[in-house]
Amino acid sequence: MVTPPLIELRGVRKRYGGSGGQPEVEVLHGIDLAVHAGEFVAIVGASGSGKSTLMNLLGGLDRPSSGSYFFEGRDVAALDADALAALRRQTFGFVFQGYHLIGSETAGENVELPALYAGLPAEERARRAQALLDQLGLDGKAQLRPHQLSGGQQQRVAIARALMNGGRVLLADEPTGALDSASGAEVMALLHALADRGHTIVLITHDREVAAQARRVVEIRDGCIVADRM
Ligand code: ADP
Ligand code: MG
Repeated sequence: MVTPPLIELRGVRKRYGGSGGQPEVEVLHGIDLAVHAGEFVAIVGASGSGKSTLMNLLGGLDRPSSGSYFFEGRDVAALDADALAALRRQTFGFVFQGYHLIGSETAGENVELPALYAGLPAEERARRAQALLDQLGLDGKAQLRPHQLSGGQQQRVAIARALMNGGRVLLADEPTGALDSASGAEVMALLHALADRGHTIVLITHDREVAAQARRVVEIRDGCIVADRM
């Protein structure tokens, strides 16, 4: 038996608007994309080309207007809202350009959050969060709040959070976009290390130099995939 891709989009279109007098605009025009377990793929394209829209679909944060999304061969459209939320929680870890940490919570509490929603007991949660922070070079920082950390440190907290429930698939949208080059290189090195440990990584970027560090580069232009190379 052939193993299906981990992620497979077939003819995916995404339209916005079309209600309340808003004109409907299509921003993804029939995306075909397969990602296998363990791949490290960059999706590169100019601002406005549809990268974040695509990432939201991949991560189950949004649904296609038409076309299909199969996860491990299962049609995601057949999942109800709860099942989709469970898939999202158990499988995906999200990393964003602006970190998206909760400012009033400590680094440790931010990392624990996905496991709180997943119902992991408090003690285990705290232990796992601490272990992840240690692994990411943030030992001693668990009690600090985001504003007490550098951008690079905040992004590492966000990566730890993305790994809290396993982070089998990491979706990183411009993760180095707000960082100086040294911190950006650190984050890229971390993504490489995670890829080596078997995480599937989808890195979204407008920066060709960043994209070139991935093992496969998919280029998106005006809502269409125009190149896909190893
Ligand atoms: P990128 O991440 O590559 O910069 P986006 O996926 O954010 O691109 O956006 C692609 C296009 O879709 C842009 O023209 C953007 O204005 C439009 N768009 C994104 N989100 C929405 C939305 N919620 N409603 C209407 N248009 C949107
Ligand atoms: Mg974007």
